[in-house]
Amino acid sequence: MDQSKIDALRAKPVPAFSHLIDGRHCAASDGATMEIISPIDGQVLTTVARGTAKDMETAIASARAAFEDRRWAGQPPAARKKVMMAWADLIEANALELAVLGVRDNGTEIGMALRAEPGSAAATIRYYAEALDKVYGEIAPTQGDILGLVHKEPVGVVGAIIPWNFPLMIGAWKLGPALAMGNSVVLKPAETASLSLMRMAELALEAGLPPGVLNAVTGEGAVVGEAMGLSMDVDVLVFTGSGATGRRLLEYSARSNMKRVYLELGGKSPNIVFADAPDLSEAAKVSAAGIFRNAGQVCVAASRLLVEASIHDDFVAEVVKAAEAMRVGDPLLVDTHIGAVNSETQLRQNLGFVDTARAEGGDVVTGGDRILTETGGYYMAPTVVTGVRPDATLAQKEVFGPVLGVTPFTSDDEAVRIANSTVYGLAGGIWTSNLSRTHRMLRDVRAGVLHVNTYGGPDNTVPLGGMGQSGNGQDKSLHAIEKYINLKTAWIKL
Ligand code: ADP
Repeated sequence: MDQSKIDALRAKPVPAFSHLIDGRHCAASDGATMEIISPIDGQVLTTVARGTAKDMETAIASARAAFEDRRWAGQPPAARKKVMMAWADLIEANALELAVLGVRDNGTEIGMALRAEPGSAAATIRYYAEALDKVYGEIAPTQGDILGLVHKEPVGVVGAIIPWNFPLMIGAWKLGPALAMGNSVVLKPAETASLSLMRMAELALEAGLPPGVLNAVTGEGAVVGEAMGLSMDVDVLVFTGSGATGRRLLEYSARSNMKRVYLELGGKSPNIVFADAPDLSEAAKVSAAGIFRNAGQVCVAASRLLVEASIHDDFVAEVVKAAEAMRVGDPLLVDTHIGAVNSETQLRQNLGFVDTARAEGGDVVTGGDRILTETGGYYMAPTVVTGVRPDATLAQKEVFGPVLGVTPFTSDDEAVRIANSTVYGLAGGIWTSNLSRTHRMLRDVRAGVLHVNTYGGPDNTVPLGGMGQSGNGQDKSLHAIEKYINLKTAWIKL
């Protein structure tokens, strides 16, 4: 990473963004805009269109028209693949510009942003571009003079509601398979991380995606997101975000056309460290990174540390040392480990969780405060709280911030019981050198993704999805494709 190139991009003013509908930029129907505040310094960065329900309906109608005339689904697979590959190339060619724009908007440290945002988005788009002509129907083993065909069809119009922590990566998880299967998509970026995703959508059009196949509408979730959820013309809704919004989306579906809703929600992921872990100091470093990178704003963040009691004090001391060695600050400096918290609201919420943890008997052994206030930005010290009871708020509720709760355990059964004692089931970690214990844990811990002697980092080849109130359906891998197709049986008498 070249600091001078990053600085040059940071110095550029950011233009105002408007919706992208039918291949054109357009303002909100009532002309309203909303200010985008940079979490780096709390200053206004630019504005985006403050969408209305009418704007969302226009975008959905455009996507529907694009689907019905088959301007995308009707193209030969090789032609669609070429467009998607060109799109991935453009994302890669503009990677630094996209990453810096995204960081100015959402505060993620640039090292992680470059890898996890344009880097991962380009790889994801390519993965599904390569897969698109390898997904086709079946001939069933019917008997007699009957031919049973199973067609795989695109679902139609997909609505995608994206969060602010990794807009390009998560956006690509939805856009890649949805577009590869021939659907039209309407995108709703998050209020506090719209810019790089809007730019990535523009690049899709530059790559040759026909107008209307991908429309993007900015604005408030409660307005444009709700209009998308309640639409009679959206066939599938895909979402990553909070449980509260996920619940609303299910309600919108029930109140409208019973559209399929796929949710990737929060987590309270247990990271379970046994005394026989192969390398405890490596485990401590990775555990700290697993909760503190991107200021804890990661859905699979290892936010609950369960430590075998016999090593508790030494291990916590190592985690605290690792946490205190992480540099928090300006996310556009290449040597920053932890960037800004996304918004003032989020920062206040994080600090509130620390207060509650203290009130419930937890001991804040490092961090706990807002720091670097002189910058005007939203920064928080990595925070470790020990003595967190399994039923305490910090052990039960997702913070989505750099706050780690530590709970000791004394047996495998107790570790599993504590690990499974939340409503969530997204991710987890297991640190041990005992093979049988590893497999028992993999069997017994309820989570969609478990890491053994490491944490984080799986690529497109494996699915990501939650159990319990962490959601349903899968992002990534070929399994994600199921969400974006309908099966249609043809029963033919010969
Ligand atoms: P967070 O609380 O972490 O911001 P949200 O679930 O509120 O998470 O946000 C994730 C996405 O959901 C954002 O794009 C946001 O605009 C959208 N959203 C928020 N409220 C609603 C709603 N009522 N209907 C539809 N989308 C919404």
